[in-house]
Amino acid sequence: GIEKVTPFYIHAITLYSNLKGAYRLRGGTSSVVEALVSKIEENGGKVLTGQEVTKIVVEGSKVKGVITNNNDFYECDYVVSSTHPAETFNLLDKNPLIKNSFIARILSEKNSYPLFCLYLVMKPGSFKYINRNFFIRRGNKRVNYVLLSMQPPAVGSDFAEVVTIVTSSSFSQFEKWKDTRTGNRGEDYLEYKENLEEEILDFVAADFPDLRSSIECKFSASPLTFRDYTKTPEGSAYGIQKDCNKPFSTFIACKTKLPGLYLTGQSNNVHGVLGATITSLLTCSDILGQDYLMNKIIRAI
Ligand SMILES: Cc1cc2nc3c(=O)[nH]c(=O)nc-3n(C[C@H](O)[C@H](O)[C@H](O)COP(=O)(O)OP(=O)(O)OC[C@H]3O[C@@H](n4cnc5c(N)ncnc54)[C@H](O)[C@@H]3O)c2cc1C
Repeated sequence: GIEKVTPFYIHAITLYSNLKGAYRLRGGTSSVVEALVSKIEENGGKVLTGQEVTKIVVEGSKVKGVITNNNDFYECDYVVSSTHPAETFNLLDKNPLIKNSFIARILSEKNSYPLFCLYLVMKPGSFKYINRNFFIRRGNKRVNYVLLSMQPPAVGSDFAEVVTIVTSSSFSQFEKWKDTRTGNRGEDYLEYKENLEEEILDFVAADFPDLRSSIECKFSASPLTFRDYTKTPEGSAYGIQKDCNKPFSTFIACKTKLPGLYLTGQSNNVHGVLGATITSLLTCSDILGQDYLMNKIIRAI
């Protein structure tokens, strides 16, 4: 967190998660996506990927649908947007119900810092899997803090297959390439990333001397990668920064003033995966009604 800015409850949630040991998923995080997709399909829904919403269409005084980059129009009664609110309001047709002053406020909110992430694919049977996360902080060089975590291996294996190392970053570090897109940023960008990867590996070598020699190949993602894939401003990892000095302006209601348009995701209430999960319940309860949703949840557990 940030001293004198981050609310205590954010600090407490994060600390609790660190003390209990952040969970990791066997099979990687894509197993959550697969489970969600099959649930959506089971209920008659359809998931479209590789399509970017380029416009949220408003007609009269309500939402009418969305247009995607293929120029397809999807008509609907509800649009639930999980993109960063700044992106949602950029896509929204001008309308009298969402005031410019409200949009200006959202655009002016500060965002949390971005991350630089190093993914290591390990040589089979070379690096022992350790069932915990490591938070390492030391020194005052450019890399002075990392979270190292190993993806649980296939059942029956004692060896790590994928190791992820995350460190905090800043957009200014990558500003030089801000007008480029993933895959086309040039040699100097790749070289810069490569140097950073090496610094990270040097940093963790004191704790994991065998790590480097066990690497089969490595990939890394910069704030620009996250910006281009998730559309968060400057690649922010945790969305709009909660600020204890102005708690109300950094909370954004899930139900907007425009009938049919709902927001969800970490920027509305609480950062992180937990925040996105809690907020999805709030959004559903705004649409379906709190009593209906609570009864359904209580009956299911
Ligand atoms: C490297 C890294 C490590 C992290 N580790 C952790 C962790 O250990 N614990 C934790 O709690 N959090 C972690 N986070 C943060 C976590 O990823 C976020 O909190 C979470 O993903 C937020 O969920 P969301 O639904 O709000 O937004 P997102 O996950 O960003 O989902 C928004 C989706 O909308 C899509 N989108 C955006 N614009 C459009 C458009 N125009 N049309 C169509 N689709 C669009 C994006 O592609 C994206 O898939 C990490 C983040 C990063 C970058």
